[in-house]
Amino acid sequence: MSVERLTDTAIAQFTKRIQGTVIRPGDADFDQARRVWNGMIDRRPALIARCASVDDVEAAVEFARVGELLVAVRGGGHSVAGHGTCDDGLVIDLSPMRGVQADPEARLARVEGGAIWGSVDRATQIHGLAVTGGIVSETGVAGLTLGGGIGWLMRKHGLTADNLRGASLVTADGQLLQASAEEDAELLWGLQRGGGNFGIVTELRFRLHPVGPIVLAGWVLYPQEKSTEVLRFYRDYARAAPDELTTIVILRRLPHLAKLPPFLRGMPVIAIAACYCGVIEDGERAVQPLRAYGAPLVDGIGLKPYVDHQTMFDAAQPPGRHNYWKTSYLRELGDAAIDAIVESTRRMTSPLSLLALYQLGGAARLGDAAFCLNIAATWTDPAESDGHISWARESWAAIEPHSSAGAYVNFLGEEGEGQTRSVYRQGYERLVALKNKYDPDNFFRLNQNITPTIA
Ligand SMILES: Cc1cc2nc3c(=O)[nH]c(=O)nc-3n(C[C@H](O)[C@H](O)[C@H](O)COP(=O)(O)OP(=O)(O)OC[C@H]3O[C@@H](n4cnc5c(N)ncnc54)[C@H](O)[C@@H]3O)c2cc1C
Repeated sequence: MSVERLTDTAIAQFTKRIQGTVIRPGDADFDQARRVWNGMIDRRPALIARCASVDDVEAAVEFARVGELLVAVRGGGHSVAGHGTCDDGLVIDLSPMRGVQADPEARLARVEGGAIWGSVDRATQIHGLAVTGGIVSETGVAGLTLGGGIGWLMRKHGLTADNLRGASLVTADGQLLQASAEEDAELLWGLQRGGGNFGIVTELRFRLHPVGPIVLAGWVLYPQEKSTEVLRFYRDYARAAPDELTTIVILRRLPHLAKLPPFLRGMPVIAIAACYCGVIEDGERAVQPLRAYGAPLVDGIGLKPYVDHQTMFDAAQPPGRHNYWKTSYLRELGDAAIDAIVESTRRMTSPLSLLALYQLGGAARLGDAAFCLNIAATWTDPAESDGHISWARESWAAIEPHSSAGAYVNFLGEEGEGQTRSVYRQGYERLVALKNKYDPDNFFRLNQNITPTIA
């Protein structure tokens, strides 16, 4: 039963077997259900199985295996490469599985495989606890964690994956396995690095840390024409910053959002966004140089609930726009790298595009990188795609000579095996051994793929 042989009877039996829903072309909600965050990805699966339980996930894997269907796994649907969907195959969509339970005594959160960050933050912050999470609240927890996980708490508390204590996953043969230090430490190691290559994670268990619930956070904004001097100041500032402070520099035109004062809307700026997750008085001292530097257009750093800070960028990153991303690591922010970044910003072709520099270091270790750069071309008119994609590629090529090896897997587009190998550079052979063990047929291939060698 491959796609051509997907009979109505087989689909009806599968639909009856699962607690969730099965959506197919022609159904009223098919067009809605096939959409992912990146509007550039326009694929038509043969079926979308919205799984509501672990049993549903097992049934979906079995259905795809017996039917020899191509499988895409979807959590929050935020993969820019579009890995959460496919043409003609089966999308195993975990979006109904969004439960989160926080255990404050054990400092542990149990998170279902389709959950998004907003749910985790709300459930844990009630207890004044948190784990490093994505900076947009609708991003999927599983996809982000399995690729590393960079966010506001990472320099103090590590990447999201560093806080993964255990996981349950359904493998290609339909088995439910447990990965943890006690049950299968090697598989846990693989899940912390290898994306969705080994199976479908139905539950993630995270170690939690005391955070907030009020934190010192926000941004300072400078006019974009001051980018060179701001970045030179920033590199020294970032080097000396305590681990409690994580910063992200963003170069873009400010969006036309009602929450921004009218004079700022559409203005080209360089923003230094920050979150201090320790004692507030220490944080005030840590952000003081930022406030004192130059004459910021706006000093928007203040006390606010961590959950609010975690939604700060939601409105600027809505689903449905066309997106093309490139990414690099930088070991340092030398003058030449700064010049290339500033020049790329000057050449930006879309008012929606941006460059973002994420400050690593402290407990956030991704190779020897000090920064992760994301070049995000964003636009709405498909007729303009070529120009915006060229801008992202040219910007990346100009910055690449100043970058360090590897790239952050969660910001990659469709790159091909050569690039994937360099991304998983550390421990690649060990990841291949796990892939050979758990997915020798490459059943889970729509991801930054670790190709098995014993198929
Ligand atoms: C607006 C936006 C903001 C972002 N912010 C951040 C950020 O702050 N930090 C950061 O590190 N990254 C960030 N990212 C990147 C993000 O981590 C990746 O896009 C990630 O893949 C998103 O996961 P998802 O579940 O939403 O994606 P999906 O498209 O649903 O899934 C992508 C892939 O992840 C895997 N996957 C998802 N769920 C499961 C599961 N339950 N079991 C096994 N595999 C699974 C599969 O391989 C799947 O193909 C952001 C992306 C966007 C679009």
